[in-house]
Amino acid sequence: MPDMNTIVGSHDLLMITLDTLRYDVAKLEEANCPNLCGTGSWEKRHTPGSFTYAAHHAFFGGFMPTPANTDKASHVRLFHSRNTGLKTHPHTWLFDTPDMVSGLAAEGYRTVCIGGVIFFTKKNPLAKVLPGYFQQSYWRMNFGVTNPRSTENQVQHALKLLKQIPPEEKLFLFLNVSAIHGPNRYFVEGAREDSIETQRAALRYVDQALGPLFEAMRERARPMFCLAFSDHGTAYGEDGYQGHRLAHDVVWNVPYREFVL
Ligand SMILES: [Zn+2]
Repeated sequence: MPDMNTIVGSHDLLMITLDTLRYDVAKLEEANCPNLCGTGSWEKRHTPGSFTYAAHHAFFGGFMPTPANTDKASHVRLFHSRNTGLKTHPHTWLFDTPDMVSGLAAEGYRTVCIGGVIFFTKKNPLAKVLPGYFQQSYWRMNFGVTNPRSTENQVQHALKLLKQIPPEEKLFLFLNVSAIHGPNRYFVEGAREDSIETQRAALRYVDQALGPLFEAMRERARPMFCLAFSDHGTAYGEDGYQGHRLAHDVVWNVPYREFVL
């Protein structure tokens, strides 16, 4: 694992949740995702939550998806709250706030959220909770699940914001990508329902749309440490299950990557 105590402070941070992306779908499209997988493969992990709201509370609490193996020694946390009484790894970055987002703000980071799915819309009190972790948060109708160009719209918004943020200012940018979440059938012409095929097509679209964001990040003063992963998968009829917020292999197995841009 990277030494997070050398990353925090010297790098910008980019966290991308590829909402609802299944692990098996991510693996099938690895060769077609030069932006997300240009430097390596997806790692199989277990999500701490079976739907967006639960999973993101865990992430912002510093609990990233756990490696899907039985070797407990490999389950080293990147972020951990200080003074829990638990022994932590020397490479783990400790924060002294209720969550890692405000912990990074306390280290001088500007924290920015670009929302995607319903829990980031800020349209009712519940949908303000997750964006409320951040100093700045944004959601537009065209960032949401019903817009077939949502990722491009989210990236355009991020690029506009980046122009206003001095390149030497420390930045933690969080992006919740909505395009892979249902409905995603419109990524395959003529498809009548969401499926593994339509989710694969949505992922290819997302990877391409992220290109300009990665390019802009590379132009900033600091290198960018990027975390890209899914918050949960979804069932397309396996064992009779549909959707998520339930416990099934296709929901709790998620793709995970960390890399430096
Ligand atoms: Zn989700």
